[in-house]
This record gives sequence, C-alpha cells and structure tokens, in this order.
Amino acid sequence: MKTNEIIEMFDKYVIANYGRLPRAIVKGEGNWLFDAEGNKILDMFPGWAVSGIGHCHPKVVEAIQEQAGKLLHIDNTFYIENQGKLAMLLSERGFGGKCFFCNSGAEAVEAAMKLARRHTAPEKYKYITTEGSFHGRTFAVVTATAQPKYHEGFMPMLPGFEYVPFNDIEALEEAFSDEVAAVMIEPIQGEGGINVATQEYMETIRNLCDTNGAMMILDEVQTGLGRTGKWFGHQHYGVEPDIMTMAKALGGGAAIGAIMATEEVAASLVPGTHASTFGGNPLACAAGIAVIEAIEEDGLLQNAIDMGKYTREKIEELKAKYPIIDSVRGKGLMIGIQLTGPGADIVSECLAKGLRINCTQGTVLRFMPSMTVSKEEIDSAVRILDGVLAKGA
Ligand SMILES: *Cc1c(COP(=O)(O)O)cnc(C)c1O
Repeated sequence: MKTNEIIEMFDKYVIANYGRLPRAIVKGEGNWLFDAEGNKILDMFPGWAVSGIGHCHPKVVEAIQEQAGKLLHIDNTFYIENQGKLAMLLSERGFGGKCFFCNSGAEAVEAAMKLARRHTAPEKYKYITTEGSFHGRTFAVVTATAQPKYHEGFMPMLPGFEYVPFNDIEALEEAFSDEVAAVMIEPIQGEGGINVATQEYMETIRNLCDTNGAMMILDEVQTGLGRTGKWFGHQHYGVEPDIMTMAKALGGGAAIGAIMATEEVAASLVPGTHASTFGGNPLACAAGIAVIEAIEEDGLLQNAIDMGKYTREKIEELKAKYPIIDSVRGKGLMIGIQLTGPGADIVSECLAKGLRINCTQGTVLRFMPSMTVSKEEIDSAVRILDGVLAKGA
C-alpha cells in the first residue's frame, strides 16, 4: 500500500490519539528505516527508545524465529526457561535482585508502585515523584507523572501523590513524612528533556528512604539496558534502588517490561498479589536474552560511550555556529540538545531530509541513536542537522 492509502485507512479506522509524522514505515534495518515509497531515513530516535540495538538486530530476529517455532506462549501456571534465564542475566548485570515480567513500561511502574506499598508499613501510602517526570499513561503511573498536561481532562487523579522539583534536595526533605511508601525518579528524565540527576540527589534519596523505611524506586524504562554506557542509569552513581523498572529497549523491539527488586523486597510479592497474563512469555524473553547477548558479544556498551562522546563533540561544534543551540546534556547515547526556541520545525525539516530525531518539551531535541550506531552514521545525521539549522528552520 502507498502512504496516502495507509493514512486514509487510519483516518477511518484508527483512533487519532497520536500526532503522527506523515510517513508509513514498512522496514527497518540497523539504524535505517524504509517508508512505503522506499525512501531511506536515518533513525536517531529508533522506536522511541525501544530499538536500542537498532532495528531488526539479526540476533534478536533469529532468537524470535527459533522460539516462535517451539512455543509462542505459555501461562505462568508453569515454569518457563527463558523467563528464568532472562531474570538471571538481568540480575547479574543489575543489583542482584529478582525480577517480575510484564509487557510495557507503564505496567512495570505499576508493579513497582504496588510492590512498594505491599512491602512497607500499612500507614505508608504516599509516593513522591518529580516535576518533569514521565512514568506512562495508565491511571496510577500518569498520576505519578508530575506534568499537568498529562492530567488534563482526567481529574481527579489518584490520591497519595506529592510532586517535588527534580534535583531539589530541600523540597524532597520537606515532602518526606512517615506516610511515604516510595520515592520514584528516573536517573535521567527522558521525556522531561534529558535532565540528569545529580550525585547528591541520588544519595539523598537513598538516605531518606533508608532512614524512613521507604522504598527507592528508579524508573529505568528509558535509561536502562546500556544506552547510557552502563547497563542501568543508576550504575553511574554507585547508588542502588530497592526496585527498578525496565521496558523499552529490553526486548529489542518485542513488547516486554520488567521490574527488579532486592531479594528482601521481592519476597513481598507473594502469589495472588500481582500478575500479568502475557508477562514473561517465552517469545518476549527470547528476545530479551538475545538483546543482552548482542550487547555483550558486539561490545555495544563501549560503543555507546564512544559514540556518545563523539556525538556530543559534533553537536558542540554546531553550538559554536548556531545560537539557537543553548546547551547539550546527557550520558552516553541519551543526548538532549537544549534550544533557545521551538524545535518542532527542525524535526520536520530533518525528516524531509531523511533524518529522524525527536523534540520533547517543545525546546529539547533528543538524539538517542541505537548502541550500534557508527561514526559515519553520526556524521551523516549531524550534516543534515547542520544544513537544517543553516537554513534557520
Ligand atoms: C516510556 C516510558 C514509560 C512508559 O512506558 P510504556 O511502555 O509506554 O508504558 C515509563 N517510564 C519511562 C521513564 C519512560 O520513558
């Protein structure tokens, strides 16, 4: 089908809850997309952070194909080898905890929040989250998402939430009470504009939670699985959470979400307290295992560090040329370019020239290429962005 035919079908049959770019993508290969007309697009924001090792990584495709021929789904009434193996691989690369599997980021955050309540004293029911956070769209997690635009039309939100400015230690100390079950932050706010938590902030959260018998939850749905140059964002700080969420890049394109909790905390999720029908199915877990193996076999953590550094250098060069670039921030391949004005037109102009990037919060361009990205691909991307900025888009 041609793009315009596909768009017509959407107009008629698909709920229009997304602002979509006017392209239909039919194929992905590494860091490249192909639309219905066969146009090639260089993808520096693959799958909204899902395709962390590029589109259709051969190892992931092979693992899915092999598993699909054996067993697509089996319920959690039984033991599932792939689920156990993926949990082991994550535990060894994380903080040695135990995992629960679901199918998305929102579900992972829900599970983390429920577990925090379940594990702490009965009078503790409050969650502290931060302004500019993003935790997903189901009711509890969108309440946790402290951005008014996501609450519009859905009031009242769930009770028991307190919002504090990100990286503000005083505000956090003030918001704390005996009723707090958990503090939840992203080590780097993704949708909020690539805002990096300070070392002191992470340490303060850990100490306050320890002192008050509350849980520290890190939402690593976007920072997880190697993008920042370490397996998980918190590993840059030497601070470990009680509960961590994962999703997006975990399945290399397959839908999967997970939490990891310390062994002690995990013990509170006894039979009957939480569940997910599709969670931890053999197909999604085969993909997750392949993602971890590919990252290790291909040295992609190091590539994320090297290419992240290279990208930032290149963007600093653009900053020297164009006053619309205010600053560049992030870790590894999670890069935000703070503009002095709106970025939406820059994103559309780049797409017209064959480059896909993202703009969040109106004025932050997000460059989050896959961990397989090469110098040549970054050069091409920066050249296109350079051209667009030169024209003053
Ligand atoms: C994307 C995201 C979510 C929500 O994930 P979904 O799979 O869309 O439900 C939650 N937390 C963070 C940090 C995210 O980036």
